[in-house]
Amino acid sequence: MKTSPSICRRKARYSSRDAAESVAQGVFERDALKLRVYACELCRDFHLTSRTKGMKVPAYELEQFRRK
Ligand SMILES: [Zn+2]
Repeated sequence: MKTSPSICRRKARYSSRDAAESVAQGVFERDALKLRVYACELCRDFHLTSRTKGMKVPAYELEQFRRK
């Protein structure tokens, strides 16, 4: 995903996909807000985005879906 430098600076950075995903999971469980993790080509870390189009659905969201 293309990220502009201003967006990169503004966003929280996570050094691993796992770390970013556990934050996304917490937000999802608390606020039902769907976030996706993506690797930033500028800082080489990971950010979260609310743009879910075309992104892989994480396991915890599928889990939630099955439970309902
Ligand atoms: Zn970045």
